[in-house]
Amino acid sequence: MAALRAELAAVEPARACCRAAERAGLGVSAQDRQLAPAVARLARRLARTDTPGSAPTFAWATAPEHCRLAYVRALFLARGSLSLARGHTHLEFTVPVSEAGSLAVRLADIRLPATWRIRRGRGVVTWKGSETLMTFLRRAGGSAAVLELEARLVTRALRGDLNRALNAEGANVARSVAASRRQLASIAALERTGALQRVPPTVRRVAEARREAPEATLGELAATLGLSRSFVQRAFQRLGSLAVRPAAYADEEQQRARRPDVPEVAAR
Ligand SMILES: [Zn+2]
Repeated sequence: MAALRAELAAVEPARACCRAAERAGLGVSAQDRQLAPAVARLARRLARTDTPGSAPTFAWATAPEHCRLAYVRALFLARGSLSLARGHTHLEFTVPVSEAGSLAVRLADIRLPATWRIRRGRGVVTWKGSETLMTFLRRAGGSAAVLELEARLVTRALRGDLNRALNAEGANVARSVAASRRQLASIAALERTGALQRVPPTVRRVAEARREAPEATLGELAATLGLSRSFVQRAFQRLGSLAVRPAAYADEEQQRARRPDVPEVAAR
């Protein structure tokens, strides 16, 4: 915000009418608020170059757009505070309650619509979101500030995307780690009961490959074994159900004994 103030305070309006408008914008606030150093310098500079005296009144209704922008720029310098917290950009003008409504109307006049409310006895006029603020900065001469803000917003958006991607990736990894753990537990259980020795050789090869590579994905195991991924998946399902219900395997074995031509498992 300090850099933003300094940049906008350094804008030198070419026209005397705009300098007067700027003084008026600053003058509204000069009475009750400590100005930032850059803004105070601007106030002194303006006071030097133009006829001294009390803050000039500013006739908004008849003022041309260049003067209106100069006025709002000064008001922004004296009264604005910028917040970029938690991904929400908003800018507030804090003004006397009696001026809040008319300021909101004036900002709408120059296509920078704002909302206003009363907070702790003060009028608060707000630009929500970065769009209006950026438009204002562009028109008010804060090009470095625009670039800076854009960079920040882009960085934040990218960071959000990256976090979402990492979270999704993390969820996938967590799922496959949990699956691998279940598979290893089934294999260990089958080994304890000796059932692992009786499963078809291809299924046993899948079990052995899993033990050698606990972190491998199904696709990686399939590639290592020269089998299809769906075969590897079915092999694990089979190992899993055998571990839970050893009897199922016995039934299957008996059936196969009666019909020896039935293939054990359809390989790729
Ligand atoms: Zn002007």
